[in-house]
Amino acid sequence: MMTRREELEKVRAEIRACRACAERGYPIRPRPVLGGALDARILLVGQAPGVTEAEEAVPFCGPAGKRLFTWLERAGFPRARIRDEVYFCAMTRCYPGKDGRGTGDRRPSREELALCAPFLAREFALVDPLLVLLVGQMAIERFLGKMPLRQAVGQEFEAEGRTYLPLPHPSGASTWLNAPENQERLRQALILVGRHYRRVKELAPPCPDLAPA
Ligand code: SF4
Repeated sequence: MMTRREELEKVRAEIRACRACAERGYPIRPRPVLGGALDARILLVGQAPGVTEAEEAVPFCGPAGKRLFTWLERAGFPRARIRDEVYFCAMTRCYPGKDGRGTGDRRPSREELALCAPFLAREFALVDPLLVLLVGQMAIERFLGKMPLRQAVGQEFEAEGRTYLPLPHPSGASTWLNAPENQERLRQALILVGRHYRRVKELAPPCPDLAPA
């Protein structure tokens, strides 16, 4: 019987080998991006990797990722430890390419989301996180249902013993944060992220069967 760590490694190998969206004709860069700590108790769900992430094969290493890490640092995460304390997921794992206007990245289609969803579900079940950070509207909708960002960011949600904290998408293409009231919502959200980060750190050592052997 496989340990949870071995099962997680198996899912990750399947993700790395997946070409399902490219085979259906979507203009993705078929190089899935995944990363983070296998024994993390904090799981972060983004939308899809950007072009820098696809080139480097490292999640959240581009400009939007750097902004997100700055937010997490503001919340209290030691920046150098973020990749050791968070497991990174996304709604889709391959760079979707530019949108038609060339102003940002293409939003993954419903079919791409459906194709990638089983990977996210399996990783989520195996990591079994205590704290889930939902980055952007698509991730928020997937876990909490449809709601405007202004109702989600700055609030906390509990379900099945987990805390879900929504954050806006950190892409520079988003204008949502231009409004001062949304900056305040982000500030409140980061206070919650810091509070729950400290709680998880105090309460929960890494999952013993997911820790490195
Ligand atoms: S986005 Fe997901 S389902 Fe689509 S090819 Fe990449 S890993 Fe496979």
